[in-house]
Amino acid sequence: MTSSPSSRVQSVIVLGGGSAGMLAAITLKRLIPQLDVELIHSPEIGIIGVGEGTTAVFPEYLFNILGIPRDEFYREAKPTWKQGIKFVWGPRDHFFYDFEFQYDQRFDGVSKANGYYVDEDCSDLSLACGLMQRGKAFPTGPLGKPVIKGAHAFHIENHHLVAYLEGEAKRCGVVLTEDTFASAEHDGGQVSALHFEKGGRRSADLYIDASGFRSELLGKALEEPFKSFSGGLFCDRAVIGGWERDGEPIQAYTTAETMDHGWCWQIEHETFINRGYVYASDFVSDEDAHAEFRKKNPKTPEEPRILKFRSGRYKRSWVGNVVAIGNASGFVEPLEATALAQILYECRWVKELLENSDCQPAEAQRDFYNHAIGVAWDEIRDFLAFHYKFNTRLDTPFWKHCREHTELGDYQALYDLYQEIGPSPLLTSTLPNRPNIYGIEGFLAMLVGMKVPHKNPHTPAEAELQQWQRGRKKIATRAAAGVDVRRALDAIRQPSWQWS
Ligand SMILES: Cc1cc2nc3c(=O)[nH]c(=O)nc-3n(C[C@H](O)[C@H](O)[C@H](O)COP(=O)(O)OP(=O)(O)OC[C@H]3O[C@@H](n4cnc5c(N)ncnc54)[C@H](O)[C@@H]3O)c2cc1C
Repeated sequence: MTSSPSSRVQSVIVLGGGSAGMLAAITLKRLIPQLDVELIHSPEIGIIGVGEGTTAVFPEYLFNILGIPRDEFYREAKPTWKQGIKFVWGPRDHFFYDFEFQYDQRFDGVSKANGYYVDEDCSDLSLACGLMQRGKAFPTGPLGKPVIKGAHAFHIENHHLVAYLEGEAKRCGVVLTEDTFASAEHDGGQVSALHFEKGGRRSADLYIDASGFRSELLGKALEEPFKSFSGGLFCDRAVIGGWERDGEPIQAYTTAETMDHGWCWQIEHETFINRGYVYASDFVSDEDAHAEFRKKNPKTPEEPRILKFRSGRYKRSWVGNVVAIGNASGFVEPLEATALAQILYECRWVKELLENSDCQPAEAQRDFYNHAIGVAWDEIRDFLAFHYKFNTRLDTPFWKHCREHTELGDYQALYDLYQEIGPSPLLTSTLPNRPNIYGIEGFLAMLVGMKVPHKNPHTPAEAELQQWQRGRKKIATRAAAGVDVRRALDAIRQPSWQWS
């Protein structure tokens, strides 16, 4: 059956079986059960196979919105925990950015927010920050057990995640088919059928394009224009490697480390350490990037896996009866590991708009969706721009270029006011869109973390400084008694463990 723009959606074809396709199919089938959902993917083409860090919305969505059982997920998808990112970035030795509040808060009895007191030492501003810097993952609860609550994210290997989601898709009634898409019949921005190499012609009322960077339906068939972010984000490749864990402690954070022509991640799985160097091919050849990567990480394999990408998004993600989700809709390089969060945001809005239109989405719903998703992509772009613009750690041609040419986009006003008033939560008023993915906390964490200068320092009296230190001390004491990742994994595998 084909559909006119506002006819009722009863059947959905999801093209692509990476994390985007699986999450979209599960969301639609589980939350709107009357839909017939078929997911078609090509094992020959395969999945991207990277995407190992999440943000805190990921567990929240999986467990509380999709209702996925925690014990089953931990057993099969094998995640470890991520409390935030350790940035080896800017003039400090390092700093942490987490999912709690470090800078958008003021300790009891002091006059200003935390950013005004932090000079050399920005440790222990939140419990997550205190835990990470001590190699811990969670605070200790009764009987010495970890308290696995609050905003935290995962490190999770993409193939384990996709394999788990595939099982979950089958369990909730999604029909899974293996075939390779060949071409689409379309007219006036509406797709009427898809042709596959083995299975001939197939049609549905709504098509989810989750075909990854190939963007088979939105990009190729419907030729939606692509809005490149290359004017502000210069990295376009990654060399990826890693090694079997060799006694290294499992950290509850991703490391993001400044490199000569970009940056390197370290992601902590239980038995594997995953490293990747994201670099700008205008500044370094693949061979030299690989050599720099290997020098820093001698345990990585000699044969590099190099992935090319482009940062940007399609102008619209929902065109006619095609909605692109995941890399088929856009991609911003992985510095803040936001792709999975964006996928969930997209899935959630498609589901909400279908549900709220009795599955008859009209032009206004599509316009709203395109606006909301576009704003979210642009926000990720601008947040990453702050990371590049103000990183003074190295003076290589790449980093000089970033400092000189990175544009702050819709967040220039935030920086302008920051220069005048410093790290005040009042800067919230400059956020161009609310709710905002990172909130003022995210921007302050980067500005203060990188010691970006401003004109409004605060010199507290001794008594006030001591009061502020007491706030940090409380956090430090609790963090020091925390449980590390290894012990937390052991605890959740005990038969007596119960998820609250
Ligand atoms: C270097 C790098 C690091 C990253 N790190 C992170 C991170 O830490 N955190 C994070 O959240 N994200 C990260 N990402 C992004 C993340 O990998 C993806 O956004 C996420 O996995 C979703 O991918 P996808 O499902 O859109 O695409 P893919 O995994 O590429 O899946 C595409 C699917 O479409 C199918 N397909 C394609 N063409 C056809 C066809 N013609 N016929 C049939 N099927 C077809 C494929 O077989 C596959 O099943 C990273 C990306 C890169 C490039």
